Amino acid sequence: MVSEKNQSKHVCVIGAGPSGLVSARELKKEGHTVTVLEQNYEVGGQWLYDPNVEFEDPMSIHSSVYASLRLTSPREIMGFSDFPFIAKKGRDMRRFPGHSELFLYLKDFCQWFGLREMIRFNTRVEYVGMENMKWIVRSKEKKSEKIIEEIFDAVVVATGHYSKPRMPVIKGMNEWRRRQIHSHVYRVPEPFRDEVVMVVGNSLSGQDISTELVEIAKEVHISAKSLQVSEGLSKVISKHQNLHLHVQIDTLFEDGRVLFIDGSLVIADSIIYCTGYSYSFPFLDTKGIVVDDDRVGPLYEHTFPPSLAPSLSFVGIPRKLIGFPFFESQAKWIAQILSGKRSLPSWDEMMNSIQEFYNSRDIAGIPKHNTHDIANFEYCDKYGDFCDFPHLEEWRKQLCLAALKNSEKNLETYRDLWDDDEVLQEALQSSHFTQIDPESIPL
Ligand SMILES: Cc1cc2nc3c(=O)[nH]c(=O)nc-3n(C[C@H](O)[C@H](O)[C@H](O)COP(=O)(O)OP(=O)(O)OC[C@H]3O[C@@H](n4cnc5c(N)ncnc54)[C@H](O)[C@@H]3O)c2cc1C
Repeated sequence: MVSEKNQSKHVCVIGAGPSGLVSARELKKEGHTVTVLEQNYEVGGQWLYDPNVEFEDPMSIHSSVYASLRLTSPREIMGFSDFPFIAKKGRDMRRFPGHSELFLYLKDFCQWFGLREMIRFNTRVEYVGMENMKWIVRSKEKKSEKIIEEIFDAVVVATGHYSKPRMPVIKGMNEWRRRQIHSHVYRVPEPFRDEVVMVVGNSLSGQDISTELVEIAKEVHISAKSLQVSEGLSKVISKHQNLHLHVQIDTLFEDGRVLFIDGSLVIADSIIYCTGYSYSFPFLDTKGIVVDDDRVGPLYEHTFPPSLAPSLSFVGIPRKLIGFPFFESQAKWIAQILSGKRSLPSWDEMMNSIQEFYNSRDIAGIPKHNTHDIANFEYCDKYGDFCDFPHLEEWRKQLCLAALKNSEKNLETYRDLWDDDEVLQEALQSSHFTQIDPESIPL
């Protein structure tokens, strides 16, 4: 139901990555006053590349992006609904550009919508808790180490979830004396020159990092949950004599031996764990929300914890969907709920809906740690209906699926060779792309 109400709230957004930026934009548009607290010195979140990881505590580094990283999704599908990710002269114009191009897009977005004035940089949120129906937010300013305590009507958490390594448990891991790192702190292949490298995990980062290392390392060994890998990865493995696929690791030994569960053995110099990330909200002091094996819950529609809704909300929790437009619809819904324009169902109804969702995932055999993996365009459209956010354009869905299919088959080339030109032309001629003159966005 839509109401005429328009209450303005004092809202704190934590994080100035894509989710936080679009949240600030939507909240401001809806008439709220917004303060964005960002621990880093610039906007961008994951897309603010951090090359200096060697001497830092891995837990204090936010971005997991490596130097050679190119987007896995084509640029056309990534843009927010009213700000297309246009190829601009003088920049990286590729369909699957390098990471810094997305960083520049986010800076442009920030400038276009005048968001910077709402952001306090170098400010890390250390505590968020509720007192007398208001939110107390305590943050620390980086240089001065000054602690500031502020009171807000509502808090939107947009802190991302690709910064806390999810490490496997392997026998002998603590005895292993050679180098072992998580892909969170992998940046360039050079330190691994002429080494025998063990890459654990074969999802996106595992594949990317292995294909890069194979050119420089003596041998690269990938340990995967199953030997049934994609056609694309199989092709890469058969092309390189120094790239090998293995089953899971059984034991690691102090002298560098790696024993696999099929009894085979290699001696490695380094191990890189490409085993994913965990959700973590160390600043949250509330019993209304917990992280249990990467299930953040209870969360109504991955956004509102029923017992604290609507004053506490989360943007950017879902994975395996077209991120930016989804985060935008979340932000819009939150802004409208906070202003009173729309309302949430009762506590009982929200809890029932969450339980039904968990049951459906259990029946489908989806592990708990994949709770927030959506992989469903229909869900994005249904979600958009909560706040009249437009459904995903047909071309966006098709370009997304075409890229996924192409990457499965042609891992090494999918970012430069494709066969979806017809849909691409349709996308570029659509109102999404013609709504802004690229030349009007200053370089
Ligand atoms: C290696 C890699 C490759 C990826 N490739 C793609 C891709 O090709 N396409 C795609 O769509 N997505 C990709 N992603 C996903 C990517 O995370 C999202 O695109 C997007 O960055 C998520 O935005 P976010 O704002 O939710 O989180 P983030 O980008 O992580 O931003 C969170 C922000 O919150 C800040 N923050 C965190 N904690 C605090 C605190 N306590 N106080 C203050 N500030 C805080 C951080 O500094 C950061 O600026 C990739 C991710 C990784 C790691």
